[in-house]
Amino acid sequence: MGLTKAEDGEEADLCIVNTCTVTDSADSASRHEIRSLLKGHPNAKIAVTGCMAESAPDSILSIDPRIQIVPNAKKEELIQEIFPDENEFPEFKIEAFEGHTRAFVKVQDGCNSFCTYCIIPYVRGRSRSRQISEVVNEVEGLVAKGFKEVVITGINVGDFDGAGRLSDLVRAVDQVKGLQRLRISSIDPDEVDEDLANAVLNGRTTVPSMHIVLQSGSNTILKRMNRKYTRQIFIESVEKMKERNPDFTVTTDIIVGFPGETEIDHAETLDLIKTIQFAKVHMFPYSVRKRTRAALYPNKVSPIVMKQRKQELMRVAEQASFQLREKFLGRTMEVLLENDEKEGMIAGLTPNFLRVSIPKGHWKANDLVQVKLIENRPDGFLGLV
Ligand code: SF4
Repeated sequence: MGLTKAEDGEEADLCIVNTCTVTDSADSASRHEIRSLLKGHPNAKIAVTGCMAESAPDSILSIDPRIQIVPNAKKEELIQEIFPDENEFPEFKIEAFEGHTRAFVKVQDGCNSFCTYCIIPYVRGRSRSRQISEVVNEVEGLVAKGFKEVVITGINVGDFDGAGRLSDLVRAVDQVKGLQRLRISSIDPDEVDEDLANAVLNGRTTVPSMHIVLQSGSNTILKRMNRKYTRQIFIESVEKMKERNPDFTVTTDIIVGFPGETEIDHAETLDLIKTIQFAKVHMFPYSVRKRTRAALYPNKVSPIVMKQRKQELMRVAEQASFQLREKFLGRTMEVLLENDEKEGMIAGLTPNFLRVSIPKGHWKANDLVQVKLIENRPDGFLGLV
């Protein structure tokens, strides 16, 4: 449409903000971004879309009259919404991921699960999936552009139902010529069934690593979160995968300080972290989301206790992932280098999601290299080619 990307320091005519509302701090970050764009681009139109635009449109509109809200449901017609008088529009698709060597392919949106803390089903609607053939086409296009690794993403990919299940999708994408690595972004433990395990463990490009969402190690808390599994199911799902491939690793998400979380519940989460030895844990302090059931739950955990528990969980998670890495020390593994350079080093990930830094030399992002893991450091391996 004749528009080009504004360079740093250049004033834009149009700014698009894709907001998130999954936690209170996501709301603050979205608001901050909108305000800073308004200030830095005094003549620009500011289009705001995404989940915060869906959950709190009035509070966003009250920031400035230059703001236009585009609801989530209209996000793919965003350009038409902003330029209603135009007749011809470019196709809406993502072809490049600036700064990323991994390409993210969204295969599903929405969720039917209604976990009691989560706002997503309210702002994204019910689950719907793309067709497998459409996803395969997109992956072929990304591989032709030079991407070696593709990550299948969605709000709840375990719900995928696009003329086949998630396992069928994984098998179909795995066949794409030239693709080197295939990852699933995140999944719930009860969704890792035999069929999906086979698709992941027997694939040509599928990596021996999954992000399996835990949220809490306490069955009492999992039940009150309306999660559909227990800590035993979580442990069994992971152990089954590890038995079939000892290199298999798991990353996870944990919510700290869910209402009513006691010291015993917290200790159960700590214990599970030690048992599983996650390659990485993402920790989120519980954040009250209006309209969700947990917002009405009593016995909220105080911010001080939440902070203490988060620090303890982080410390234990780091020790556990260090211990996990010890098992791989001395091995030679394939590393896909990323745009992650500092002090003469460049870093990347093994197929099973272990971070490795090597001397930069002539290596660059998106190179696949065989690396000997020579030292286990708190932030990952030091390796040599
Ligand atoms: S499954 Fe995930 S997206 Fe769906 S309600 Fe639960 S936490 Fe939210």
